Amino acid sequence: MKSLSYFILFLFCLNDFSDGKLEYNSEVYPNFESDFLVKKDSISNIPKRFLEFQKNSKGYCLVNGNSTAKQIALSFDDGPTEVSQKIIEILNKFNAKASFFWVGERIKGNEDIIQLAKENGHLIANHSWNHENGFSFSNQDLWETQIANTFKEFSDYGIQDAAFYRPPFGAITQKQIDFLATQNIKTVLWSITTMDWDANQNTDDLMFQKFKEHIHPGAIVLMHDADYGNLDSKLKDLENILKFGKSQGYEFVTIAELKP
Ligand SMILES: [Zn+2]
Repeated sequence: MKSLSYFILFLFCLNDFSDGKLEYNSEVYPNFESDFLVKKDSISNIPKRFLEFQKNSKGYCLVNGNSTAKQIALSFDDGPTEVSQKIIEILNKFNAKASFFWVGERIKGNEDIIQLAKENGHLIANHSWNHENGFSFSNQDLWETQIANTFKEFSDYGIQDAAFYRPPFGAITQKQIDFLATQNIKTVLWSITTMDWDANQNTDDLMFQKFKEHIHPGAIVLMHDADYGNLDSKLKDLENILKFGKSQGYEFVTIAELKP
């Protein structure tokens, strides 16, 4: 079952990289294909290159926080949407803080959700302007078409949070990470994915089971505040994630609050 999941994820990623505009570069990522097929390193379910980025980026690329601190940073991508509100209500029940990586072009019209996230102490960060895969973009293009304009939109809508960027699909190069570091932007990846975007893996309690299996100090957990099917399961699993994490002595914090 697991190898099938990796294969599906691999196909998903291949699809991202083969739409005519983007190409898999074997010089940049010689192990790209096998990273998605083989479980490597101590942190499960993530491409090995994430750990290489973190190691090479002097604190400007986060895959996880301090591995001795009982903290977990839940993160939700692709909003704001009406799902964001449901998620915030659940987080609040557990007095948990989280990080929302929002898409610039989706900000307008969602002022109420922005307000709700802000007044409850959640962090709002940058997930590009229109969710394009920026893997093959030049630094300048990535900055101008995806990142700077999203920060500008944030600022127009009163969002002043710390400068964190999560690349759509986790697709980014070391060169881009290094460039963003010169702009004082930290790239945020993840150490646990719940696969909540995948309709084959977001039913029943599968997302909670993944979390439970891979929970570790300093975890950054990838979820989505968008409805990719089986939303009720996601919301129920989120409650179970919070309940279980708390029962194990973890504190749920924003990315900015993770200990280095
Ligand atoms: Zn996304």
